[in-house]
Amino acid sequence: MKSEISIKVTDKYKAEYAKGYPLITKEALENPEALQNEGSILKLTDKQGRFLAKGYYGLQNKGFGWILTHDESETIDQDFMERKLATAIGRRQAFYSNLETTAFRVFNGEGDGFGGLIIDYYAGFYLLSWYSEGVYTFKDEIIAALQNVTECKGIYQKKRFDTKGQYIEEDDFVTGERGEFPMIVKENGVNFAVYLNDGAMTGIFLDQRDVRNTIRQKYAKGKTVLNTFSYTGAFSVAASLGGAAKTTSVDLAKRSSSKTIEQFSVNGIDFETQDILVMDVFNYFKYAKRKELKFDVVILDPPSFARSKKYTFSTSKDYTNLMKEAIAITERNGVIVASTNSASFGMKKFKGFIDKAFKDLGKKYSIVEEFTLPSDFRVQKEFKEGDYLKVLFVKLG
Ligand code: SAH
Repeated sequence: MKSEISIKVTDKYKAEYAKGYPLITKEALENPEALQNEGSILKLTDKQGRFLAKGYYGLQNKGFGWILTHDESETIDQDFMERKLATAIGRRQAFYSNLETTAFRVFNGEGDGFGGLIIDYYAGFYLLSWYSEGVYTFKDEIIAALQNVTECKGIYQKKRFDTKGQYIEEDDFVTGERGEFPMIVKENGVNFAVYLNDGAMTGIFLDQRDVRNTIRQKYAKGKTVLNTFSYTGAFSVAASLGGAAKTTSVDLAKRSSSKTIEQFSVNGIDFETQDILVMDVFNYFKYAKRKELKFDVVILDPPSFARSKKYTFSTSKDYTNLMKEAIAITERNGVIVASTNSASFGMKKFKGFIDKAFKDLGKKYSIVEEFTLPSDFRVQKEFKEGDYLKVLFVKLG
């Protein structure tokens, strides 16, 4: 049993927590110095000592931990985890029974009642991501709970917190059967090669499922498609399968080229009919302008922050400029798929960045599709920041 530490909350946050806000922040605490070991159970009270909620201490860039329950009598033990996991799995029954999509999110942190823990499903295997040393202290209970509530072929994990250089690759495998990699998963019938045992990323960002499907079904046929910040080329594969005339994938990372070839290949697409470029997107924009290249569809999915040799890109400062670059090489009546996963601003502000780009250029546009996170990436309505994904399909003219 973990020990409980009593922590007092400021009046301002008392109201927030009563309304269901899940994040424990430093400003919320009257006596943060009482926090000692990550993973301790925190009993939050108001200044008078009246019970508000229970949570745990875990340091993440977002805050100091997460609220787990508003019921004083509830203990945070394996049974608690089983209840949370069973509910989360129950909510995703439609995914489990869909043979065309075999990779999805099973447990989305605070959206499913346990901030700092993410669980994804990949064709019978489970991948757990731990976002703090604090949440990692619950590892044994969470893994036992998962095995009790569902059948797992094998379990892998990613520690997404600072382990002071102690990160060992073998740490990725936890228990059960070992997978064979690449593992081929399906998403709306499209194949993707994934690796659960190879560093921080698996090869596919599951949150873009609906966007990939929309590109394939409605926007690709006969079109030339430029995919910038393409990573493993997942959007390019979707476009190509949707009948694109040609795709061009651009990413700075050297590995992106072999990874993109692999994703095309597992879908039976001859990668040599596509362009795959390892280069800085900003240099590519210059090159395309010089060569007067234009595309029917341009996909923009930059990281929130990136630094290359020549350029620094921060979504909140530079999206308008990025849009302008894209507009310059998009055909009349073409479509720009503008995406961001930055949690630091909402949809309204994102639309503002796009609007400004068109206004500055004196051009017209309309928004023809709008996406936020898909349903398996469950978000809590009291925690809007959790709904980080924003994707707009912007039609020129
Ligand atoms: N759109 C991708 C995910 C993008 S992840 C998908 O749907 O799978 C962000 C990618 O941007 C990384 O692969 C990184 O290598 C790349 N990147 C970052 N800065 C870049 C730059 N200046 N030019 C090209 N690629 C860049």
